[in-house]
Amino acid sequence: MKREFSRVKRLVIKIGTSSLVLPDGKINLEKIDHLAFVISNLQTKGFEPILVSSGAMGFGLNVLEMNKRPHDLAKQQAVSSVGQVAMMGLYAQIFSHYQTQVSQVLLTRDVVEYPESLANVTNAFDSLLEMGIVPIVNENDAVSVDEMDHATKFGDNDRLSAIVAEIVNADLLIMLSDIDGLYDKNPTIYDDAVLRTHVSEITEEILKSAGGAGSKFGTGGMMSKIQSAQMVFERDGQMILMNGKNPRDILRVLEGQVIGTFFKQDK
Ligand code: ADP
Repeated sequence: MKREFSRVKRLVIKIGTSSLVLPDGKINLEKIDHLAFVISNLQTKGFEPILVSSGAMGFGLNVLEMNKRPHDLAKQQAVSSVGQVAMMGLYAQIFSHYQTQVSQVLLTRDVVEYPESLANVTNAFDSLLEMGIVPIVNENDAVSVDEMDHATKFGDNDRLSAIVAEIVNADLLIMLSDIDGLYDKNPTIYDDAVLRTHVSEITEEILKSAGGAGSKFGTGGMMSKIQSAQMVFERDGQMILMNGKNPRDILRVLEGQVIGTFFKQDK
């Protein structure tokens, strides 16, 4: 299937902690700068970009000079709460360098599950985009926990990005990962794994290639990306899974270059 993005206007870009924080715990300033440049550039070209960014915990550990995440849940929430401010502060600073205004939208699952609050969130996104502001979205880690009767957690930001794409009715969801796309088997284990350039259906085989339930990657990892793709398919949307190592590739993708894995159903 040909990749045709000329009608794409509203797009959600998801970036994960591993792309923003270096293995030694330092902040990847170069990556954030490139990302801010690309998103600002998209906006100048008439796109309506929305960034879904993880990283609150990583930034918090960095600011508080802690070398590993605390075991205690309340402490984790405290660290994330510190980190979210640091992360947004840096985004605001770097985006302003490219004359782009950003805003912070923190979500919890309960908010998008109740029709009234969902309508408020939708209106807020619409207003921000109308005003030419780039919303930067994250889960509200400081308050979201897994509870049986009042679930506030999304699970992970792959899922959150698919939900945001649904809320804003995005034309395209771009997921930036630490890998070039979806392979026919885990490329970190198998040298002969082959990159899939197009996925039109979430088959058993695709689920198996992503790790399958019960394996190391049964939750999070590639499986959560596949589940997000399924959500995108359910509303007849499209998604690109690509490596986030060079954010400028986003511009190339939108020009139609075959980079990463393109998820779109055949008609
Ligand atoms: P990120 O946090 O960068 O989004 P994840 O760790 O969540 O990345 O998911 C990407 C990882 O999923 C890859 O680095 C790889 O180890 C693993 N993986 C498992 N199966 C596959 C597959 N079939 N194709 C690509 N990656 C896979």
